[in-house]
Amino acid sequence: MPITLESRVRRMLVVNLPHDPCCRDQCGCAETTVVVTAENPRTGDRVAKHVSKHLPASMTWLALERRSGLPTALLAVPDIRAAIGRGHLRLVEQTPDPEPAAPAAAPRTTAAAPAPSNPTPAAKEA
Ligand SMILES: [Zn+2]
Repeated sequence: MPITLESRVRRMLVVNLPHDPCCRDQCGCAETTVVVTAENPRTGDRVAKHVSKHLPASMTWLALERRSGLPTALLAVPDIRAAIGRGHLRLVEQTPDPEPAAPAAAPRTTAAAPAPSNPTPAAKEA
């Protein structure tokens, strides 16, 4: 079920996609090799060591960009949930099929922020 996320900020937004919630079907992480200098504490010799590192993928929104067809697993990413909570990202729609949805009039799924209910006055206790 693809989702559409829209950036609400007028600057670039980058979110890291950690392996745990994002790589269910296929790992999108990158394997990279970094070179570190290791010093032998006894002799003081320095040697270059190649260390393999697992880098998570990331996703970038341009200012006010809307990206559709995103996997639902993104909603499990803490950074994306935080961005939605701060109002930096907006969950536009969660479509069951890829056909273009009707704009505006269609009822939205509000997964992020449920509308506040009308407060009812508490019953008076006698
Ligand atoms: Zn991964």
